[in-house]
Amino acid sequence: MSCKLIVGTISVLLFISCNTSNPPNKDVTTTTPKNLILLIGDGMGLSHVSSAFYFQDKEPNFKRFKTIGLMNTSAKDMKITDSASSATAMACGKKTNNRSISVDENDESLETLIERVSKNDIASGLVVTSSITHATPAAFYAHVPDRSMEEEIAEQLLSSSVDFAAGGGLRFFTDRKDSKDLLSSFEEKGFVVTTDPEKSVDASKKQLYLLANDGMPSKLNGRDDFLIDYTKIAMDHLSKHENGFFLMVEGSQIDWAAHDASPEGVVLETIDFDRAIGEALNFAEKDGNTLVVVTADHETGGYAIIPEDDGEGWNYENITGGFYQDATKYGSTTHTATLVPVFAFGPGAVNLSGIYDIDRIFHKIVESMNW
Ligand code: MG
Ligand code: ZN
Repeated sequence: MSCKLIVGTISVLLFISCNTSNPPNKDVTTTTPKNLILLIGDGMGLSHVSSAFYFQDKEPNFKRFKTIGLMNTSAKDMKITDSASSATAMACGKKTNNRSISVDENDESLETLIERVSKNDIASGLVVTSSITHATPAAFYAHVPDRSMEEEIAEQLLSSSVDFAAGGGLRFFTDRKDSKDLLSSFEEKGFVVTTDPEKSVDASKKQLYLLANDGMPSKLNGRDDFLIDYTKIAMDHLSKHENGFFLMVEGSQIDWAAHDASPEGVVLETIDFDRAIGEALNFAEKDGNTLVVVTADHETGGYAIIPEDDGEGWNYENITGGFYQDATKYGSTTHTATLVPVFAFGPGAVNLSGIYDIDRIFHKIVESMNW
């Protein structure tokens, strides 16, 4: 056998083995992914993430990531951001002032990720536990100078290219100053609009689920598996689009529980979010062509998991189980300047490692996706 023939045979064998031994559940870094799932834990700093490690019996899904980064979340005008300017930075790749929804400091519109991908006929969806018009989801499809303009934001959802949306906020669509009934406008545009989760829907149409008047109930107030279930429904719906999809899932109320300085609230909301992450990772492992990115828009509460002072000094043992009443403390009831973690899985994930400013995550994602 000539040397050339041996080399040729080896190349063929290598070619075959590359094409057969590439299981879809590997954290592949060399191919361009087709789908992006971005999960944002509003207000979720590293201690909030840690609560999913200490205060549940299961292994947290956070543990399944191998690629980790850190983000500085500062706004354009202030060191400490709100959810509007931080979501704008992630959705548009530009820093703006606090309260701004995808407009710059001169109130000029910035192109959002959803607007950008719709040009390539890529489907998009949003699943949130706040109103669907709240700052974080709004920055992905709307442009207003102030986050409080939720009726205008609802109208901009109608004119956006969003294919699937689930959350609360019904009143911004039906109980409006201009008396418009936006739900019938959505139906005219080809959406199935659902305000009753029990109702079965025509899965072939675009979907709008508005399941609460304002935000969804908190976990403390009995919210069911909404975030987990609708993450699954959204992935199922969007994955039927042949050009791929972008899905943003928000654990909106981690932030709200931290503003309330609630010991149980943050733990329950973070574990709920961790379960939604698990569904996204299961989909991505099976699909092999999906980049999953998990991060936060800022830290809320200066939240910490601490040893208890039991009178005889620090008790370094009892921070687990049902002990979080004493084991968690807040340094504040508002947002902080603490860096937030980034977790990435799937093709292109490696691009998300490192330490960077919050507007850079947009560019890293766009680069990974080749969008
Ligand atoms: Mg939010
Ligand atoms: Zn907040």
